[in-house]
Amino acid sequence: MTQLVWFKRDLRIHDHTPLFEAAARGPVLPLYIVEPNLLQSASMHPAHWTFIRASLIELRDHLARLGQPLIVRVGEAITVFKALQEAIAFTHLWAYEESGNGLTYARDRAVRRWARSVGLPFTEIPQNGIIRGRLDRDQWSSHWEAAMNAAITPTPDVLPTIDLPIGAIPTHAELQLAPDEMSKAQPGGEAAGLRLLRSFLHERGETYTRAMSSPLEGWWTCSRLSPYLAWGTLSARRAYQDTLGAQAALAALPQAALGRWPSAYRSFTERLAWRSHFMQKLETEPRLEFENLVTTYDRVRVGEFNVGRFNAWEHGQTGYPMIDACMRCLAQTGWINFRMRAMLVSFAAYDLWLHWRDFAHVLSQRFLDYEPGIHYPQLQMQSGTTGINALRIYNPTKQAIDQDPNGDFIRKFVPELASVPTTWIHTPWLMPSDLQRRLGVRIGREYPAPIVDHDRQYTLAREKLGVIRQLPETRLQANAVQERLGSRRKPRRAPRSRKSSISQDQLPLF
Ligand SMILES: Cc1cc2nc3c(=O)[nH]c(=O)nc-3n(C[C@H](O)[C@H](O)[C@H](O)COP(=O)(O)OP(=O)(O)OC[C@H]3O[C@@H](n4cnc5c(N)ncnc54)[C@H](O)[C@@H]3O)c2cc1C
Repeated sequence: MTQLVWFKRDLRIHDHTPLFEAAARGPVLPLYIVEPNLLQSASMHPAHWTFIRASLIELRDHLARLGQPLIVRVGEAITVFKALQEAIAFTHLWAYEESGNGLTYARDRAVRRWARSVGLPFTEIPQNGIIRGRLDRDQWSSHWEAAMNAAITPTPDVLPTIDLPIGAIPTHAELQLAPDEMSKAQPGGEAAGLRLLRSFLHERGETYTRAMSSPLEGWWTCSRLSPYLAWGTLSARRAYQDTLGAQAALAALPQAALGRWPSAYRSFTERLAWRSHFMQKLETEPRLEFENLVTTYDRVRVGEFNVGRFNAWEHGQTGYPMIDACMRCLAQTGWINFRMRAMLVSFAAYDLWLHWRDFAHVLSQRFLDYEPGIHYPQLQMQSGTTGINALRIYNPTKQAIDQDPNGDFIRKFVPELASVPTTWIHTPWLMPSDLQRRLGVRIGREYPAPIVDHDRQYTLAREKLGVIRQLPETRLQANAVQERLGSRRKPRRAPRSRKSSISQDQLPLF
């Protein structure tokens, strides 16, 4: 009666329902399959394997303490299952439903077909409040809330040991992956995620709502939980319920002692809801990874790929200091806050007129938290191809001034601008040429001149997309998108005084 639990993007023992359900029915074989074709695919980076690998080492240890360490096998999923069937006849396969990308979606379908063909029961348990199959969008929020408020699944007390080689957890070299050069990325593991959750809820997070848009303050005050949620070393339900717990504890404090915590907790749980809201879109419309949601946008940006602009953006050489600092920050750390991600996409999509499909992989590789269900819908939304969102074209200089007024972030990640005075740090191309010479920062030599003129590109992009947006066919399709995938919440109004600064990180999204 051996039960096989297949760990994928759920690398933890806390709040793990397949593990608990399997353990209630017989001895458990906990398995992780290292799939070279996924790790070597275009959306992945060696840093992802560093994070996953560390998480697997810890998971193996946690499971060993319960009695049965994690089994690791390298290869294609069905081949691995067949080999394990011969070694130890397991009678039931368990996993979480995964709202993944095209590759994992196809793999999961193949595994389901195979399990059916050999008469093996395969139970996939929903997670994150996401609904597979027929979806009633009007009921989605209450469904999500019920899922988040359901009891945390207990960890089994003990797992009987099964006599089977556990298998090595391969290194980058063994998997023929390039060395991981993302030197300052967050470490993997369940303990690290839980520690971060605690420090966010009780120490770091008070200024979250106010400061999340700054790449400098956000580094500290944002939860930084995204990679842990993405690879499942932290359960979203655990994050949600711990936040409610912290929120409830505020009731015992006098008003004066509350500080900004109530707002921080509210903003954070809203974002956990957005997370699932976005993932639901890809679950419902897997084509989102490949196609524009509204097909009338297919006639823009296609055939206009400009390799010079693409390379400059990718390598942080656009001449716009904030864009370059963010791209270089991502290359080193694997993280940047939401506002800056949106700005990077806006710049690529509107200023450089690149198709989101052409740069999706650059970002998925650099986001340690690559989560297909958030990534692709966000890319489309920030590129203006959903048909249902206002165009949000960020001015990279305004964002730099608003979010990094002293230029500290820019100087940190664009060291060639380190000596530039604050007056010029956001617009170094306007520096007088004698100052450029004195500082040794000659625009066009030590640092590039802007590769495009933002104001001009802004106007062009609005014109081109405005034409498409007005087409009756666009409106028809956009209505259908709203009906199928759109949020049912009314957008919250931005306060008047903030109207000019795009406050989309405060708005419910499409
Ligand atoms: C183009 C683009 C691509 C993105 N790709 C990803 C991705 O691959 N993986 C990913 O986790 N996030 C992605 N995001 C959303 C967001 O930028 C990150 O979740 C956030 O910056 C991670 O930092 P944090 O954990 O400190 O977030 P916090 O602000 O502390 O938020 C807590 C959690 O809520 C979720 N969340 C926060 N903001 C959003 C949002 N706008 N939409 C959906 N979920 C949200 C994340 O799971 C996050 O970890 C993307 C945003 C954009 C604009």
